[in-house]
Amino acid sequence: RAKAEGRDCARSFSKGMDQKLLQRRTMEASLRSALANNEFVLHFQPLLTPDTSEICAFEALIRWQHPERGLVPPLDFIPLAEETGLIRNIGDWVLIAACQEARNWPDHVRVAVNVSAVQFQGGTLPASVAKALEESGIAGDRLEIEITESVLMRESLDALDQLHALRALGVRIALDDFGTGYSSLSYLQRFPFDKLKMDRTFVQNLNQTDAMAIVSTIASLGKCLGLATTAEGIETKQQLQCVVEQGFTEVQGFYYGRPIPPGEIQATHFKKSNVMAMEQ
Ligand code: C2E
Ligand code: MG
Ligand code: MG
Ligand code: MG
Repeated sequence: RAKAEGRDCARSFSKGMDQKLLQRRTMEASLRSALANNEFVLHFQPLLTPDTSEICAFEALIRWQHPERGLVPPLDFIPLAEETGLIRNIGDWVLIAACQEARNWPDHVRVAVNVSAVQFQGGTLPASVAKALEESGIAGDRLEIEITESVLMRESLDALDQLHALRALGVRIALDDFGTGYSSLSYLQRFPFDKLKMDRTFVQNLNQTDAMAIVSTIASLGKCLGLATTAEGIETKQQLQCVVEQGFTEVQGFYYGRPIPPGEIQATHFKKSNVMAMEQ
């Protein structure tokens, strides 16, 4: 009897596994066709320089315009795209689409692109970036690549070479979600960063004990190392005032603007007076 029960159990377990695998395969197939059918879109969220309240960059954030499910957020499909390696092709598309869009903006406005650790595997990222710059015709210094610490931990030697190759193209490197994960200060010495992007959880928790000490330490760390510092996730005037007081050189968040489709980016976004009006 116990044996029979065990068999049933094993059977339903493997049935569950099958279903999971099937779901994954289906999702993988639809991700593949999404790329072929041009179902990915980029939305753009502004980054501002607080002392002038001008937009200095837009961050490209991918969404999947799914025929049935509507607009699917990146966290719902990027992990599978990374597991299956599809992120390489998707990432190449993002680079080209983001640089193409930046052509429509004034020269001083950069475009920031998120790049996953998987895109560093194989060493072809600098070539992909060079291709996107060439096809779009934008200068290398208008592109900012946002990476997370996971890039530095895996195959860190190879990543280092690629980061140097990217910088040789004029491209800037930002360390995204800084302060979470397995931050090691030695990364800051070993890798050629231009910017620290503080994770938004620190801004969210500003009213908690010691949060202010951390925020202010990240700002001065950036300053001492000669790096730009971005505070992301700014939703309120109080949060803005606090990070500006601490010396962050750039701010980003719903307070200034949510990610918007490229068609909604207008000339007024690049005029100082209008950006300041958004502040009130
Ligand atoms: P991230 O690069 O750290 O991007 C910031 C995320 O925070 C975005 O979510 C943005 O919409 C959201 N956000 C911005 N301001 C605020 C705010 O004031 N309050 C709150 N609550 N949230 C805010 P999104 O667009 O869902 O992207 C999530 C993550 O997906 C990104 O985090 C990035 O890691 C990844 N991602 C997005 N686009 C790409 C891409 O093209 N390639 C890769 N590899 N990853 C991407
Ligand atoms: Mg980012
Ligand atoms: Mg971030
Ligand atoms: Mg993130």
